[in-house]
Amino acid sequence: MAEKTTGSSKRKKAAESPASEKTVPADPAPAETVDLPVAEPVAEEAVPPVAAEAPSEENIDLPQPRRSVAFIGSECYPFVKTGGLGDVMYALPKALVKQNCDVKVILPRYKCIPWEYQEKMVYRGEFYMDLCSDGRSFYVGIMEYVWNGVVYDFIDNEDFFRNGNPYTNLVDDIPKYCFFAKAALAALNYMNWVPDIIHCHDWQAGLVPVYLRSVFSGSPVASAKVILTIHNLRFQGIYNIATVKYWSGLPDYLFDYAVLKQGADDANMFKGGLTYADMITTVSETYAGEIQSTFFGEGLDAHLRFHSGKLRGIVNGIDTELWDSSTDPILACRYGISDAIEKKKENKLLLQEKLGLEKDSGKFVIGLVSRLTDQKGLDLVDFILPELIDGNTQIVVLGTGDSRYENSFRYYEDAFRGSVCSNIMYDEGRAHQIYAGADALLVPSLFEPCGLTQLISMRYGTVPIVRETGGLKDTVLPYNEYDNSGNGFTFDRYEAWLLLDAINRAKTLYFTNRERWDKMVIRDMEKDVSWENSARKYRQLYLELKPNY
Ligand code: ADP
Repeated sequence: MAEKTTGSSKRKKAAESPASEKTVPADPAPAETVDLPVAEPVAEEAVPPVAAEAPSEENIDLPQPRRSVAFIGSECYPFVKTGGLGDVMYALPKALVKQNCDVKVILPRYKCIPWEYQEKMVYRGEFYMDLCSDGRSFYVGIMEYVWNGVVYDFIDNEDFFRNGNPYTNLVDDIPKYCFFAKAALAALNYMNWVPDIIHCHDWQAGLVPVYLRSVFSGSPVASAKVILTIHNLRFQGIYNIATVKYWSGLPDYLFDYAVLKQGADDANMFKGGLTYADMITTVSETYAGEIQSTFFGEGLDAHLRFHSGKLRGIVNGIDTELWDSSTDPILACRYGISDAIEKKKENKLLLQEKLGLEKDSGKFVIGLVSRLTDQKGLDLVDFILPELIDGNTQIVVLGTGDSRYENSFRYYEDAFRGSVCSNIMYDEGRAHQIYAGADALLVPSLFEPCGLTQLISMRYGTVPIVRETGGLKDTVLPYNEYDNSGNGFTFDRYEAWLLLDAINRAKTLYFTNRERWDKMVIRDMEKDVSWENSARKYRQLYLELKPNY
């Protein structure tokens, strides 16, 4: 059926929101006095209720019982991806299907989603939903796409999701993700699909647990248990209370220090979600500990310590079908474990040729694939980069971000032409070529909740050089020259000279003991970086959380 035209164009910018003019009940009572947003369907077709599935012959060998899970998040590969969250929203549901989970992924239908996916979406229904504190009503369309056993439901409203990038600025993003969080829950009610678990991701879905346990508390979807996963605590969705209160339409009692309030007059959408989530997870065990400290806690360390009883760390994996050097369609020269040592040299030559670097498979090529922001330790790289240029080392950067770093890497490309290549762009294909063609990958992050680039690089036989923080610490075992073990080179304190030392240790091994280096390449490729183990842990968590039937 053809797509319905988006209805409401009633949205105003947050800055214009007349929150202060609204009369908010002085002491609003919880759920029952608030209009339940169980949407009135106006779809042309009734949506059939989804029956609980009995185990079929196909899934009889899968772990029992089956669990149904709704993923709610702001990005998902291949529809829209700006970083690791997009990878996880794609790969974890796929891995959970293999663990006998019935997964629906709920996403915004951004205009920037490529047409090849938009055209395959099927109209699932539409309704109108109250959102703001003045009861304004907004169109919610649902477009569906089924792929790899996962159902993707896209929440449609052109006014909110018309930008080319999912994240623009908080003035737009706060209303956008208030709408998205509420519409996602209303859509589950509308589709009559009440999952056992609602699994929310990052601040953009932070209001989901808050809505679920307040304005939705008397509706069918409230029987689900809710998990909130922290992929990066740095971004929290903080804005003044008046605006968040206006756009979310949430009652006054939630704008309290225990839930949404922060500082003198701000509301923090992530904080509210953490309060009401039945379980909080984050993407590595080390980061789960780190965020309870002042340095890593981003102002929420005390809140997280208070809720630490329901906080767990489960390390991310990568999709090993998507990231497979033996089948990767982007690579002109594919390789497996048996021919990696030779074929990686060919990939290096192809990369050097493509990027205008001196063609020589004997050079030590260091890759850096990253958002160019302070988090990623780029001030350290910036500081020591000239020290790396010795005629035998080449540096390939791929990333976009802060102009400070973009310009500095452009400068180095100019200053060290033939040895440094700075690709200031977002390019999936080029990322694959760097993972395959580089000898080492740099991840010197200030903090790193999990990090995926070090996992991808190991899978492609590219030795990671990382700082011992968060998931980097949990996934990269340092090279031990005494027993010839380990997966990469690491350093602990956030100091430029320690990074330089780690790179020099890697270079020394590469140039003086290639046999040992090559063994590390093979060890890295053999390391299990798949989602399987972690998907099992998530499933276990889903089983622990019994729905409130
Ligand atoms: P974060 O989510 O903090 O950005 P992660 O290491 O968790 O960092 O995930 C980064 C993901 O984004 C990886 O899949 C990486 O390959 C990809 N990526 C980052 N920058 C670029 C870029 N400029 N072009 C292509 N892919 C990129």
